[in-house]
Amino acid sequence: MRKFALSLALTVLYSLAPAFAADSAENIRASANLSFNNILNQLTADYAKGLETPAQSAAPELVQAAQDGRYWVTAYAADSHARTRLLEAGLDIVEIQKDRVSGLIRKDALPSISGKGLVIESMPLEEYAGRHFKDFPAADAAYHNYKETTDLLNALATKNSDIASLTSIGKTIEGRDIWCLRVNSTAKGAAASPKPGALYIGNHHAREHLSNEVPLLFAVWLMDNRSAPEVRKYIDTLDIYIIPMLNPDGAEYDIRTGSYKWQRKNMRVNSDKTIGVDLNRNYDSWFGGQGTSHYPSADTYCGPSAFSEPESMAIKKFVEARKNLKTLMSYHSYASSILYPYGGSDADVPDAQDKKVFVKMAGEMGRLTGYTPEKSSDMYIATGDTCDWAYTTGKIFAFTTELEGDSFYPGASIIDKTVKSNVKAAAYMLSVTDNPYKIVQ
Ligand SMILES: [Zn+2]
Repeated sequence: MRKFALSLALTVLYSLAPAFAADSAENIRASANLSFNNILNQLTADYAKGLETPAQSAAPELVQAAQDGRYWVTAYAADSHARTRLLEAGLDIVEIQKDRVSGLIRKDALPSISGKGLVIESMPLEEYAGRHFKDFPAADAAYHNYKETTDLLNALATKNSDIASLTSIGKTIEGRDIWCLRVNSTAKGAAASPKPGALYIGNHHAREHLSNEVPLLFAVWLMDNRSAPEVRKYIDTLDIYIIPMLNPDGAEYDIRTGSYKWQRKNMRVNSDKTIGVDLNRNYDSWFGGQGTSHYPSADTYCGPSAFSEPESMAIKKFVEARKNLKTLMSYHSYASSILYPYGGSDADVPDAQDKKVFVKMAGEMGRLTGYTPEKSSDMYIATGDTCDWAYTTGKIFAFTTELEGDSFYPGASIIDKTVKSNVKAAAYMLSVTDNPYKIVQ
């Protein structure tokens, strides 16, 4: 079962290990609020505080919040093609097991799969949420919301103004800025750079809050360790971009009442008045094909046309304007896997050398995180995703990391371990960004 994939102990010494310990006392004093270790310690302290809250007291709040007409369904699906068909029927696949999947579907779409005898178990989302909640916003205050994310990025850029700059790459449908921290020792803002580029994106999907923490804390780690020789080399020779929160509208909606909404999509008001387009089905890579829904109410709704959404359009413009980008990582949760193209087709990428690079990079990042490396479509076929588009458009070695956990809301205790192992994988990506082909030569 994918979600229970063994997290292998990281026994191999990693070349950047000293950088993790590079937090000198002086450093911590100078930037009490910005140090990587201090922030992780604070997250742990907040979690401990959260544990003092009796779980029962907040559960009804969560249960009430999830009453939105969706059902949690477990259905038979023996292979990637069967899973793809379920996606197209409107099932938002959340968990994959050997012969079955579980996920969310709207009540009106449920008969399309129950009528085929595929449903093993179904229950209203509020019932499922009541049984399986891990945490609730009060105890998850350690996670960074939009304002906290913005403030932290601002503070990083201000404190490291010689090498970092913060820009908005566009506005969301509700008018929020989509922030990008750039790390480059010679170029600021939107100025062009000849250096090879790496791009990290988080939070395409609103409820995947951990996928904001990882790139955000990676930015903190980079700045915290900027004097360590390996990191210094990356900062001097590469053009590094970090966009931790691509879908702040959805992320804010998910938490704004103090209880989770299980929101996946952005906050577009669709033609039928339902809310949201699935941003990771909205890119122009086999747009609207397999593994996506054309029903606006579905959680995997691809939108009326490719790049119909300002958030995905912002990424399109950003990437197209930066021909120096060589690598890309898009963070999601939760499956504990490192995925490489294609996602929208069963086919392998046609260039044999490129395939070797994808497999090798995914394998190494899998080793560093304990996640399973695999071709994205081996899970299910999903058209219109970021990575297929980025590879096809810009020959960028683009990966999806499905972070760990057994829920979209795994609590704050998971942040520390997840961030630390994924920072190693993110740093590995930097180590090959100068020339990804060097690892297969
Ligand atoms: Zn996702």
